[in-house]
Parts: sequence; C-alpha cells; structure tokens
Amino acid sequence: MTPKSGYRFSEKIMRHKKTYAMMKGRTLFAVLAVLIAAPAAGQDAQPRRLAVATTSILADLVRNVGGERIEVKTLVGANADAHVYSPTPGDAKQVAAATVVFVNGLGLEGWLPRLVGASGSKAPVVTVTKGVPPRRMPDEAHPGRSVIDPHAWQSIADAKIYVANIRDGLAAADPAGKDAYEANARAYLAQLDAVENEVRTAIAAIPAERRKIITTHDAFGYFGAAYGISFIAPEGVSTESEASAKDVARIIRQIRKQKIPAVFLENITDPRLIAQIARETGAAIGGKLYSDALSEPSGPAATYIDMMRHNARELAKALGGRA
Ligand SMILES: [Zn+2]
Repeated sequence: MTPKSGYRFSEKIMRHKKTYAMMKGRTLFAVLAVLIAAPAAGQDAQPRRLAVATTSILADLVRNVGGERIEVKTLVGANADAHVYSPTPGDAKQVAAATVVFVNGLGLEGWLPRLVGASGSKAPVVTVTKGVPPRRMPDEAHPGRSVIDPHAWQSIADAKIYVANIRDGLAAADPAGKDAYEANARAYLAQLDAVENEVRTAIAAIPAERRKIITTHDAFGYFGAAYGISFIAPEGVSTESEASAKDVARIIRQIRKQKIPAVFLENITDPRLIAQIARETGAAIGGKLYSDALSEPSGPAATYIDMMRHNARELAKALGGRA
C-alpha cells in the first residue's frame, strides 16, 4: 500500500473496520478518563484561543474564519480516516485545552462524544452541518437500507453553511472576536462563491451524456447532486479488497452496457488490470479524487478550495470537458 492509502479505502471497508476501532477505543477511553479528568479545566492564559476540528477539511475552514485569533488543531490528520478513527491520549489533551470544538456531525464522528467525555472538556461542541439538508446513501452493512450521508462538504453550497456555523461558534466562544470572525467569514465566503462558479463551469463544459463515472468511493453524493454528475458504484464487485480478475470482467461489462466514459477505481492498484479496463472499454482512467481528507501541504488538495478545484479538474479531464 502507498503511504496515502488511507484516503483510498472505500466506505465499505471503513464500516467493517469500525467495530474493531470502537473496541480499541473503549480500552483507551478507560485509561484516558483517569489520566485526563483532573487537569481538564485548563486556565485559558494563552492569547490565541484553541479550536479543535475533527478533520483536516474542517480545520481549514476554521483557520480561514478564525484568522489570527485562533490556533487550530486537527484530530484526524493525513492518512487517517474520520469514519473509524481511534482517538489518542494526545487528542484528549487537545480537546481538554480547547476553547471550542468543531465537528462535522451527520454520523461521521461516532467516536467523538466519548473522547469529549473522557477529556473532561467543558468547551462547546459546534456541529457545522446544522441547517444542511442531509442526503442519504446506501448502507453497505445492511443491503437495501440507507444511512445519512455525512460528506456534505463536497457541495460548496453546504460548505458555506459550515462557514456560517463556524463564524457563529467562534463568536459565541470568544465574543471579543466577533467582528473579526464576521469579516474573515465574509471574505472567505466570497472566495467560495468564486470556486463554486469555477466548479460549475468545469462540469458544465462536459457534454451532459458523458457526466457519469464509476467509482468505488461512495463519498460524492453531495457533489453529484450539486453539480450534475452521476457517481455509479461498480455492480456486484467487492470493494472490500483488491479487485479480482472476475471483478474486472464485471466492471468491463458494466462500462460497456452503461456507456461510462471514465472510471476512478482507487482500490484497483494492479496496473495490468487498469490497463485491461482501458484497453477493452476505451474508458478514461481518472486520477485521484480527494473526498474525506486534504492532501499533504505540498499536494494538489492542501486546502478545501484546492481540493474542490482539483476534483472538478480531474473529472473534467477524464470526461472530456474543456477545463
Ligand atoms: Zn467518507
């Protein structure tokens, strides 16, 4: 596996790992509760206030709104997966020292309430998806049923709701900074407007009948609904492990039948299988789409805005848009 493989797991793998992560988490929390409870209510002597955000994407939004007044710490860093995260004792210390904690909600961070409890933190926990119209997605653990889809940040319109909630959460936790947070949010929202236009333009340049891809990563429901692209799951293919030759044969049939112009298959790492799909279907093989976490600072998705721009360009490139 590559060092970045943490991003590549399908949602299905994530859920399978959840039980194990929770079991590990339980033991850890018992220890944390003892270690952290006493010194939890730290004196807030430092001039900059500490905001803790669960994911790298959220942390970037908080940094943009918090500006100079706020130091931002991320719990789930690069190469870790927010769906199945196991908090560390260091995380509990961060939460204990936090002025305010920002979480995505919509079921993403099932591990968070226990972390906050164990840390002894009294900081307000702000759910940034408050007011976002939730979408549903297929429940991989229970075929035929659906669960709430937490990936709302993949719609820039929804990210603007995140920003408004972050602005209000910071102002409530640090009333003296209210004007600064409002000014920062206004400036950042204007940048989001511009990127939203760019993404719409890039996708609109793709002929309508070509706006569909096959992907094993079930994280783009909000993006697809907002910008008009169908993200189609491979039929009858196990996304839990490296695709087999039989899986690839099925994918090839599906691409032909549904006339799919491009595939983004992050759990097929065997270059021979990828070459076979391209050769036998003529479909374009897409690059990496970022869904749940930002890239390293030197990568193509170092910020939320860069991530949205990068994904739109990759899609336009693979689907034949004029981006
Ligand atoms: Zn996800």
